Amino acid sequence: MEHFWTRGSVDKNKALVEQLKQYGIIRSKKVAEVMETIDRGLFVPDGSSAYIDSPMPIGYNATISAPHMHATCLELLEEHLQPGMHALDVGSGTGYLTACFAMMVGPQGCSVGVEHIPELVASSIENVKRSAASSLLDEGSLSLHVADGRQGWPEHAPYDAIHVGAAAAEIPQPLLEQLKPGGRMVIPVGNFFQDLQVVDKKLDGSISIRSETSVRYVPLTSRAAQLQDF
Ligand code: SAH
Repeated sequence: MEHFWTRGSVDKNKALVEQLKQYGIIRSKKVAEVMETIDRGLFVPDGSSAYIDSPMPIGYNATISAPHMHATCLELLEEHLQPGMHALDVGSGTGYLTACFAMMVGPQGCSVGVEHIPELVASSIENVKRSAASSLLDEGSLSLHVADGRQGWPEHAPYDAIHVGAAAAEIPQPLLEQLKPGGRMVIPVGNFFQDLQVVDKKLDGSISIRSETSVRYVPLTSRAAQLQDF
């Protein structure tokens, strides 16, 4: 039985990636490859609805982002996720994107996820262990930590790529500091109405920011505020 279920899920994941390609959201071969390799069904509580292009609740007032948002962020960051590079995923939730980043930067690179709900970090580690990125977790090039992501993760800074999976009223200063010259951060900014901002740090250290699209993410906040009405 499990054999058939597994095969079915791989097919459904492939079909999802195909759909995102047809919509023009996935344009690069590398992004298609990594999203095919990292099966989204392994990262959501109810694997069966994993392959719909929609965000899904994962508990603790958090959601796994919709596949088209994962794809958009991977496309925006692709050049900054070359083998050997360093990536930071703030608000790593299910660990899906942290795993994708790890596959792209490879064993010589470094992919760090930071999430402030300990239960989500624990389940994200289990998710990654079931996925194609499990050996990278064992080797240590992929790691997932419980911490306030607004402080970044100084240990592996500076980062070529920073992704923030929750919306901030403004860009946290430590994240700007931990971005490498030549690096790129993708971060939703705003309260109710949010923009997905693309922040490029030039080689001289100056910053340029543009808005890619309007989005709706959960807030980047304190653990207490997030769990208030949970
Ligand atoms: N990219 C993740 C998105 C999860 S939703 C995924 O697709 O699975 C956003 C996540 O940000 C939530 O899990 C939430 O708990 C986390 N979060 C919010 N504020 C945070 C903070 N200050 N530090 C770390 N994580 C935070």
